[in-house]
Amino acid sequence: MRRGGCLCGGVRYEIPGEVTPAVACHCSQCARTSGSFAVMTSCRGEDLVLTTADTLAWFTSSPGTERGFCTRCGGNLFWKRAGDAEIFVTAGTLDQPTGVRLAEHIFVASKSDYYEITDGLPQKPEW
Ligand SMILES: [Zn+2]
Ligand SMILES: [Zn+2]
Repeated sequence: MRRGGCLCGGVRYEIPGEVTPAVACHCSQCARTSGSFAVMTSCRGEDLVLTTADTLAWFTSSPGTERGFCTRCGGNLFWKRAGDAEIFVTAGTLDQPTGVRLAEHIFVASKSDYYEITDGLPQKPEW
């Protein structure tokens, strides 16, 4: 059982099922919501159990795509796309030990210019 939540505790969740290896997304939307690139793991939508969601809100960042965040502390928590069976969860909001490893970088073509990716993991220009 994995657990996680935002900085202020207004959003807490549990994931009883499996999670995927994490991806680091370097798209401009993740940068503007997270402050930098976002590392996300994913699970089946029904495996994300919200135990506290007092301050959770959803922002439609593009048609059919929603980002879940905390309205009190600003924590970037979730990403989901209409019709998908999976939901993405930011790895940094998981309690440790996460049991998650970073596997690849995506949307590298749109990353910002202030850093380089040097960990040797696969890099994809988009998905
Ligand atoms: Zn919060
Ligand atoms: Zn992104």
